[in-house]
Amino acid sequence: MKLRHFTPARLSPSSLKKALMGFIALVCLSLILATAWQMSLSREERLATAKVAVSNIVRAAEQQAQDTVRQADNTLRDLVERVEHDGLAAGERIRLATLMAQNVTNVEAIQGLFIFDAQGNWVVNSFSQGLRTNNNGDRPYFIYHRDNVDRSIHIGSIVKSRLTGDMVIPISRRINNADGTFAGVVLATVPVAYFQTFFERMDVDDQGVIFLALNNGDLLARRPSLTALMTTNLAKGEIFSHYLPQSDSGIAVTRSVVDSVERIYAYRRVAGLPMVAAAGVSSQHVLAPWWAYAYRSMGLLGLICLALIALSVLLYKQIQQLITAESELQNAQDALEIIAQTDSLTQLANRRRFDVAVQQEWGRASRNRSTLAIILLDIDWFKQYNDQYGHIRGDDCLVQVAGLIGAAVHRAGDLAARYGGEEFVILLPETDFAGALSVAEKVRQSIVDACIEHSASPLGNVTVSLGVVAINAPKQDAYTAALKEADRLLYRAKNRGRNRVEANELLSAQAGNAYATCLVP
Ligand code: GH3
Ligand code: MG
Ligand code: MG
Repeated sequence: MKLRHFTPARLSPSSLKKALMGFIALVCLSLILATAWQMSLSREERLATAKVAVSNIVRAAEQQAQDTVRQADNTLRDLVERVEHDGLAAGERIRLATLMAQNVTNVEAIQGLFIFDAQGNWVVNSFSQGLRTNNNGDRPYFIYHRDNVDRSIHIGSIVKSRLTGDMVIPISRRINNADGTFAGVVLATVPVAYFQTFFERMDVDDQGVIFLALNNGDLLARRPSLTALMTTNLAKGEIFSHYLPQSDSGIAVTRSVVDSVERIYAYRRVAGLPMVAAAGVSSQHVLAPWWAYAYRSMGLLGLICLALIALSVLLYKQIQQLITAESELQNAQDALEIIAQTDSLTQLANRRRFDVAVQQEWGRASRNRSTLAIILLDIDWFKQYNDQYGHIRGDDCLVQVAGLIGAAVHRAGDLAARYGGEEFVILLPETDFAGALSVAEKVRQSIVDACIEHSASPLGNVTVSLGVVAINAPKQDAYTAALKEADRLLYRAKNRGRNRVEANELLSAQAGNAYATCLVP
């Protein structure tokens, strides 16, 4: 099967400009959308990775807090049971002090163990028997146990140890008398530094944070540490005021009340304990590589779009130049074609054009079985005109006669041409014998009427002789015979005195000598 060639319709320069601009806009828009989509995906990916990382950290912090409190509580339970059962006689105190010192050594998280009586007086501690006495009756955890019969574990806000001067988290239990009345408090102190050291080992950035706080918002430990750690309360922060009331664990993107840094936090209530653990990485740190990537992508995209626009402008200019050059070439070609088909002196069609036209019209008349007429005409005594007036005026005369001939021929398809020298030819398609005769006579009369002086002519003015043939339904390619006949008739007109029309109606180009002759004086 033969392939058909598809030639797209030619666009006008303005449509081409619009199409090119539309295409470039579409390409740029697609690139921008694809890049934006890619960037938003990579942003989501980074945020998701950061959320997983902080969630893992907060789980580790929770686990650490639970383990620490459990270890301290096991020790406290033992001590309460022992004190309530064996009492605090002098012998017992020595045994308890030894036991407590051992416990402190065994349990890394516990810095000190204390037993206070119902008034808050130091009775036994893990440091050294009877070395120092003091009263902790003013401590909030002591007041709590004294005023609450609740026997569960109590975790208090940070206090400064009266013995070591360190910041410690007090974990305590109530001691009851046999009748259930308040007998005192056992206390384990966990240094804040213990948690901080653990937090320091976690992988968060310079702006990142890990903290442990009581349910009421009192801060217990924080990385990085704060000078006002003891007095800092986070209850007004968004995690406590907004997120925790809704869910015991989750992710929060919020600005810290402590240092105003925006972070991606993971937070959890520590299961079974009145504490909250949270870890956060700064949004800026998480997104810094993404921003670098985004700026690079946008820069590159901008450059590509600029290059595309520049390229399209260049392309458009080139196309414009090509279109201009093409139209100039076409104009030149058209002008050349006209020159090639026009007689330079008379501006009538030349012989070449006539030859082409006569073949075309002859073929058409032959196919359509219509009529075609040819008039051949020659200026009378023109040699003498030249001799009399010179060649330059001879040329002027030719131009004037050609103008009169051209003026007599109006219909589309009619053609007046210079046949050669001072001979002219008129081609009249779709014209019958009578019509051709009338045109010939009109031409002859118009030249007579122009009264162009020709003193060397017996008639006194320039005149023409004409030979006319009209052929009905001509045979293919027989126009040479018809031209010969027109020429013969022209010379008959010359012989019969000039300034006249000799005409023949050929019934067919093959009609040979069967002419109907018509003489016009
Ligand atoms: P007739 O046709 O009446 O028999 O006589 P004639 O003098 O016209 O005869 P002929 O056809 O032999 O002469 C034609 C003359 O026309 C010859 C030539 O000098 C002149 N001629 C032909 N072409 C041109 C032209 O382009 N310019 C001028 N000035 N004269 C031309
Ligand atoms: Mg001649
Ligand atoms: Mg002549």
